[in-house]
Parts: sequence; structure tokens; C-alpha cells
Amino acid sequence: MTFLNRRMFLVGMAGSLVAVPSFAGAAGPLKVVATTGMIADAARTVGGELVSVTALMGPGVDPHAYRQTRSDILAMTSADLTLHHGLYLEAQMEEFLDTLAKQRSVVAVAEEIPAEELLAHDEYQNQFDPHVWMDPELWSKVVVTVRDALIEALPQHEEGLTANAAAHLEEITELHAYSRQVLSSVPQQARTLVTSHDAFSYFGRAYDFEVLGIQGISTQSEAGLTRVSELVSLLVERGIEAVFVESSVSDRNTRALIEGAAARNHNVRIGGHLFSDAMGPDGTYEGTYIGMIDHNVTYIARALGGEAPERGMRGLLAVGT
Ligand SMILES: [Zn+2]
Repeated sequence: MTFLNRRMFLVGMAGSLVAVPSFAGAAGPLKVVATTGMIADAARTVGGELVSVTALMGPGVDPHAYRQTRSDILAMTSADLTLHHGLYLEAQMEEFLDTLAKQRSVVAVAEEIPAEELLAHDEYQNQFDPHVWMDPELWSKVVVTVRDALIEALPQHEEGLTANAAAHLEEITELHAYSRQVLSSVPQQARTLVTSHDAFSYFGRAYDFEVLGIQGISTQSEAGLTRVSELVSLLVERGIEAVFVESSVSDRNTRALIEGAAARNHNVRIGGHLFSDAMGPDGTYEGTYIGMIDHNVTYIARALGGEAPERGMRGLLAVGT
């Protein structure tokens, strides 16, 4: 096991892992592979210079449909640790991940959340809605699981990893407080969120919104014409003026909704592009977990008649996306 070699060799080393030769031939930071960008962000934030993290799914990639490539397989079979979401988010990768887990260190980070805190899947029995990152309080638990997985791999760095995680958890608490504050300013009759697929149920539960997805919990389910016309009626009846598109899902269905409402003399506009199952571009604020949620919360609040600063919690959001 790479872990054991690394661990034995590094005991007593207080400084950086870089440039420390290893008899396993794997010098340098712990090699971590994360399936989604959100998990990679948690691993990078907690692990800092002790880890080198590869995210398999970049901005705009749909995890429900993603299948591992040849280079992903190579990355995962040579990684010290693979972190995936679980709860059937990576539906097309399940089989591969199960096999990998028999030979390598693999952790399904969202599956450590107690079942009673999860929402049921409306399409499958005994399954749960996987979109837990939409509720910062639930995501905190995932960050704790990521921290513990890193500590297990690098026990000599427990102190540093714990401190990094604590700082990040504090940021997430701040994000949750900001979200509650700006979202509570949305008027009662406007607290309906219409999106491309059902990724926002945890958001709805956390911040008291009714959430309606055109497609189901997985983007793999087809949106029927009946569903579209049902939602058009609902938009007209409730006078909902904004619907949202998602960065990782085609906006075809959302446009059908807007056209359907227009045909009934009700104007609906796109309230913004939300990051549902993937973060924003690498190297931007929206390309971090905090930035992604700040973006969603700020755009939703402003589009539905609430009050929020145009550039979000920290004044870092890009304008006009
Ligand atoms: Zn999804």
C-alpha cells in the first residue's frame, strides 16, 4: 500500500512534503482525485500544499451523465485517494468506482451524511437526492468527511488539516448566514424557483422556497410535454416572472417554458444562469464552492424581488452572467 510507505517514511517530518524522496517512488504531495469540482475544492482548501488534487469533471460538466475516460482511469488507479460524491450522483461511474474501492482508497463523501438529513429521491425507492451541496449546512458535513479522509492518509499532519478545515467551515457558516439573510428578503408570493432539473430541493428546504424542476433529479430523465405545459400554467397562475437556466444542463426546456408562457400573454424572463451540478470557470471566484453558492443565492434573491448586493457576499461576483 502506498499509504503505509508514505506514512512510515514521513513520520517526524514537520515541514512540506515536497522534495521528500519516498521509497515507493511517489514523492511530493498526496495524489487525490475528486470526481466533481465541488469535492476537489474541499480537498484543495483543506489539504493545501499537502495535496495535489485532480478534478475529473470540469465546469459545465453534467455528473449524472459523465463516464470515466481512459485518462481518468489512469488517474484514479494511480491516486493515493479517490473522493467521489456517491448517492448515485455519478451514475455512469458507479460500477467502476465499486471495483476501484476493492483495491484502492476510495471515499464516497456524501454518503457519510446521516440518512435522516437527506431528501428522498422521487424517482427511485431507497435512494436519496444527491444534490447536498445546495445546502451549506449539509456541505459542511462533506467537508468534515474530506478532512477525515485526508487525516487518515496523512496522520502526521492532523493539526494543520484540522485548522484548515475549521477555517473553511467558518466560511461556509458565513455563507449560510448571508444566504438566509438575502433570501429572506424575497416576497412570500415569489418564493418559487423554476429550474432545468431538480437540483435545488436542498436549497428549497434550507431557505424556504418551493422548487420545481422541468426534468427530474437526474438530467437523464426526459422532460415530458405534459410537464412543460403544467409548469407553463403554474407560471401564469402564480405570476412567476423569472425562471433559471443551469450551467451544466441544456436550456432548451427552459426556452420552451418561456415561449409557452408568452403564448398565454405572460412574460417570463431568464433570472440568471445558476451553477447546479458544476462550479464556474477554473481560476474565478465562481469556480470555488463559496463563489458558486454566493452566485446562485445572489442571483435568485435579486431576480425574484429580494435585496442582495449586486456583487454578492464579498463583492467578488462577476457582473452580468
Ligand atoms: Zn443534478
